[in-house]
Amino acid sequence: MSAPFARLSDDDLATCVHCGLCLDACPTFRVTGLETESPRGRIYLMTQWKRGTMKFDGQQVGHIDLCLGCRTCEGVCPSGVPYGRIIEAGRADVEDVRRPSPKRKASILALRQLVGHPTRLRLAGNATRLAQKAGLTSLVRSGRMLPRLNARYRPPEGNVAKALGERRYRVAFLVGCVMPILYPQSHHAAVKLLQLAGCEVWFPPEERCCGALFAHNGDLQGAERLREHNARVYASGRFDALVVDSAGCGAHLKDFYPDLKGRVKDLSEWLAEVGLPEPKRDVKVRVTYQDACHLAHAQKVKKQPRDLLRSLPGVEFVEMRHAEICCGAAGLYSTLEPLMSRRILDEKMVDVLATGADVLSVANPGCQIQLESGLRSQRSTMHVEHVAETLLRAY
Ligand code: SF4
Ligand code: SF4
Repeated sequence: MSAPFARLSDDDLATCVHCGLCLDACPTFRVTGLETESPRGRIYLMTQWKRGTMKFDGQQVGHIDLCLGCRTCEGVCPSGVPYGRIIEAGRADVEDVRRPSPKRKASILALRQLVGHPTRLRLAGNATRLAQKAGLTSLVRSGRMLPRLNARYRPPEGNVAKALGERRYRVAFLVGCVMPILYPQSHHAAVKLLQLAGCEVWFPPEERCCGALFAHNGDLQGAERLREHNARVYASGRFDALVVDSAGCGAHLKDFYPDLKGRVKDLSEWLAEVGLPEPKRDVKVRVTYQDACHLAHAQKVKKQPRDLLRSLPGVEFVEMRHAEICCGAAGLYSTLEPLMSRRILDEKMVDVLATGADVLSVANPGCQIQLESGLRSQRSTMHVEHVAETLLRAY
C-alpha cells in the first residue's frame, strides 16, 4: 500500500493562506460557528495528517465527513484553493485508513452494488414504486424523502430524438443513473427543449452512471472504472456537446473526463449558447431559483439559468437570499449526516419561504429531493421543479 494520505497534494494544500474569507460562505460553519467545521479548519487538518504532524483519529475524521463537498468555499476563495480536488483526494485517503461505521459501510456498498449497475438500479426503482403504491415506505426515512415514483425515463426508439424544425446541432444526452427513476419529467422537459432548439439528441446506448457519487464519497477507483467504460461509449458517437441536466454529474464529467474537454455542457449553459425559439405562451407564475452547488461553484454557471427563467414572458422572477448556499442535500450526505443536513435545510427554508414564490426551480435531483422534503415539513404549497420544466411552461 502507498504512503498514507498520498493522494492529497502538498501543492494544493499549500494554496490556502488561512485568510478565513471562506468561513461565512460555508454552510457547516454557518450553523455551528466552529473552525473545525470550516474549509480552513478542514484544510489545516488534512495538511497535518499529510505531514504526519497530527495523528489520524476517528473522531477528527467527523469534520471531513461533515463537509458537504459543495465547493461554495472554492467560489469565494481569493487564493484559488482547489477545494473540490482536495476534499475528493482527502476522502479517498481517509477511506484507506479508517474503520467505517456500519451505516457508512452499508451506504457505500449500496452505492457500489446499485448505482453503477443499471439493471439492478431499475429493479430497485420498480420495487420502491410498488412499495410506495402499497404504502409500505412511509415507515422509513428514505421512503418519506423520496418523490413519488412514476414510470422511469426511457430514451426513444433507436436512441435518437429528432430536432424539431431545422437540425442545427447533434448533442449527446446523459440519461444517468438515478435521475431517470426519480425525476423522469426533468429529462422529458430537457429533451423537448433541446429538440425545440434545433438539436438532434443522441442517447449513448451503453452509457452508465458517470461516477460522480463514487468520487464524492471517496471511491475514486469505482469512479475511474465507470469513466473508462463511458469514455469508450462516448468515443463511439459523434456530437457537438454532451448535455447534462444534473449539476453533480455535469461537474464530475467536466473534471474527470479529459476526452470530453469543453464539450460537456449543463442544459442551461447550452440553451443560453444556442438559443431557444420564441416562447408560445405566458408563464404567469412567481419563480425563484436555488443554485446547485455543483453548477454555481464547480461549473461557475449562475447567470444562464437565471437569464433563461427571467426571459419567460409573464414570469415574475424573484431572487432568493443566499441562493448560492447549499441546501444540505449533497449526494449521500442527507443519509450519512442527517442531523447536519436537516439544520442546513431548516436555514434554507427561511430564505425559500421568504420569496413567496409559486415555483422553486432547481438544476439537480439531489437538491430537488431535499427541498421538496423541506417544503413538505413546512406544509408549503410551493412547487419544486427542474429549470427545464419551468422553461417548457412557455412552449
Ligand atoms: S480556503 Fe481560501 S478563503 Fe478559505 S482560508 Fe484558505 S485561502 Fe482563505
Ligand atoms: S465544500 Fe462546502 S461544506 Fe465543505 S468546507 Fe467548502 S463550503 Fe464548507
